[in-house]
Amino acid sequence: MPRIFTSAGRDKAAAPSAHPTATPRTAGLDLAVRLDAVTKVYGRGESAVHALRGVDIAIPRGTFTAVMGPSGSGKSTFLHCAAGLDRPSGGRVTLGEQELSGLDENALTRMRRDRIGFVFQAFNLLPSLTVEQNITLPLRLAGRRADAAWLAQIVDQVGLSGRTGRRPAELSGGQQQRVAIARALVTRPEVVFGDEPTGALDTMTAKEVLGLLRQTVDGLGQTVVMVTHDPVAAAYADAVLFLADGEIVDRMAAPTVERVADRMSRLGAWA
Ligand code: ADP
Repeated sequence: MPRIFTSAGRDKAAAPSAHPTATPRTAGLDLAVRLDAVTKVYGRGESAVHALRGVDIAIPRGTFTAVMGPSGSGKSTFLHCAAGLDRPSGGRVTLGEQELSGLDENALTRMRRDRIGFVFQAFNLLPSLTVEQNITLPLRLAGRRADAAWLAQIVDQVGLSGRTGRRPAELSGGQQQRVAIARALVTRPEVVFGDEPTGALDTMTAKEVLGLLRQTVDGLGQTVVMVTHDPVAAAYADAVLFLADGEIVDRMAAPTVERVADRMSRLGAWA
C-alpha cells in the first residue's frame, strides 16, 4: 500500500540535514496532492491568527487520508488550502502536476470544478434537480456531456440504480450523501475532499457512506482526503494526519478506532 510521507513525526532536531526538503522522500511517487511549507495567517498584527504553520505533506494517488485534530487546530484551513478554496499565505499547493499558486481566479475555479470533488456534511444538493441531474451538474457546468457508461458505473457503485429520477427530498440522508459522492466522482477528479461527510448521519448510515468512500479508493483508485472528528470514521482511512496548533504533529498508518481515540485524547482534544 502506498504510504503518505510527511516531515511530521520525525525528530527534527535529530537529523535536520538528512531530508532537507520533502522532495527526496517523495521523488518517484505518483502524488495526488502535495503541500510544501504551507502557511495561513488570518488577520494582521497583534490579532493575527497562524492557522497553518508550515505544513509539508504529500498524498499518493489512490489512498484514503483522514485529517484529525482538536477544534481550532487548522483542519478546515488545511482542507480549504489543499482544495484551492482558499489561498495560503505562504508555501505551495500542488494538485497532480498543477501548482495552484500560479493560477488566476478563473483558472482556479475551473480547476476546482473539473479536477476536485467535494463532499460536505450538509450534502448541498439542489432540491429542484433529479438525482441524475444533481450528479451530472459539475459536467454540465463545464459544458461537458456525461459518459453514459461511467455515469451508470458510479450510480451503481453508490447504490442509486433505479432512483436517478427522484428528487433529493424523496431520499434518506444516507442516500442524499450517496448522490453527493456520485457528484464528486463524476468528473473523475484528482482528489475527493470530504469535510465531516458523515457528520449529519446516524451511526449505521455513516458506516455505509464510509464503506462507500473506502470502495471508491479500492475499486476506482480514487484519492480521498477527509476531515473528521470521529475516530470510527478515521479508522476507514489508510492513514490519519493529526493537526495541532496549525502543524501536522503525527501521522498514523493503518489506524484503528482505539489508537486514533487514544492519540486524540493525548492531543487534549477531548479534555
Ligand atoms: P478546525 O477546523 O480544526 O476547527 P480552523 O481551520 O477552522 O480549525 O481554524 C484554525 C484557526 O484559525 C482557529 O484559531 C480559527 O479561529 C482561525 N480562523 C479560521 N478561519 C478564520 C477566519 N476566516 N478569520 C480569522 N480566523 C480564522
